[in-house]
Amino acid sequence: MINYNEILEKDELGRDEIRELLAMSFEDAKQLFKKANEVKEKYVDKKTYFRGLVELSNYCAKNCLYCGIRKDNHDLVRYIVSDEDVLKSVRFAWENNYASVVIQSGELQSPAFTKRISSLIAQIMEMTKGEIGITLSLGEQTLDVYKEWHELGARRYLLRIETSNRQLYAKLHPNDELHDYDRRLQALRDLRQAGFQVGTGVMIGVPFQILEHLVDDIIFMRDFDIDMCGMGPYIEHRSAPLFQFSGSLLPLEERFFLTLKMIAVLRIIMKDINIAASTAMQASDKLGREKALYAGANIIMPNITPGVYRDFYKLYENKPCTDEQAEDCLNCIEARVTLAGDSVGWGEHGDSPHFKNRMNSDN
Ligand code: SAH
Ligand code: SF4
Repeated sequence: MINYNEILEKDELGRDEIRELLAMSFEDAKQLFKKANEVKEKYVDKKTYFRGLVELSNYCAKNCLYCGIRKDNHDLVRYIVSDEDVLKSVRFAWENNYASVVIQSGELQSPAFTKRISSLIAQIMEMTKGEIGITLSLGEQTLDVYKEWHELGARRYLLRIETSNRQLYAKLHPNDELHDYDRRLQALRDLRQAGFQVGTGVMIGVPFQILEHLVDDIIFMRDFDIDMCGMGPYIEHRSAPLFQFSGSLLPLEERFFLTLKMIAVLRIIMKDINIAASTAMQASDKLGREKALYAGANIIMPNITPGVYRDFYKLYENKPCTDEQAEDCLNCIEARVTLAGDSVGWGEHGDSPHFKNRMNSDN
């Protein structure tokens, strides 16, 4: 019999131990989650921080094989949220003490796109007197573009590696230079060089993935020394090419359960990073975000995209809350956080303590 208690008491976890934890049964995993919750309380406090999520546009130049808004999906209305509407949403977040927003979008790499984002960052900084924290999730860009956005005031960036396994990456993406594993990795390094708090993560339960890949993913995030993490279960989209492998997937509840274990193991290993309870967690389980918070996550990204656009940013199916306005969501989220035993860090940026510690030790 495996002595999980002994593993959970160790200061450092090796590959075999990580694998044992990720393979835990539902019953055994309760002690994993409890331990992760204790680590969270000790190192980042039992506080959940909100990031208001603006889904800026579903135009995308890429063709990731899993994604519902990929370029070649023509069965979709494309939209761009106007500057005025973005600012309205950000104002809502600011006035309601969210303290941070995330601007996410399909990936475009053009001077016009760079310019628009730069102008948006400047307008947001001006409107909120520099008070609101800005996270970007706008895909791969050049080092110069990252530097420009950082200088204008954006401080965090989310760019999932999707999988740390090169071969698996090639199976999830078209094989061309727009979808190159090394380029994605370089983008993560560039983000760090530009000064961002760097967030990455993976999808869990994608076709062809085995447990060993997830062990590698945890080790990748530890060795890259990330500041933030966003992980979620893969959820099929019928218009995306990987849909043809739906029959070979783990049931969604198991993908969800595996994600919870990934969050808990990562919290135990990387004690002071920020970990998001992703929207895909909520899409796979009604109490998904609460469970993720209990298992070690400390960030929630309530959707503040104006309602009219919500239906069209469908990376995957069954996305929650697409018909709600931001105000409706606000009412239920604080109750949800309390249910998980946390309080809300209203008005606090909730920057990654790991980043601050990293900066202090670099100096
Ligand atoms: N275009 C940017 C940001 C938007 S996509 C980028 O790709 O980085 C944000 C995340 O959505 C991706 O990183 C991917 O992990 C996730 N995603 C896309 N399709 C998904 C699916 N079918 N199931 C679950 N997550 C998905
Ligand atoms: Fe575009 Fe991101 Fe979807 Fe890939 S995952 S197709 S880059 S929106």
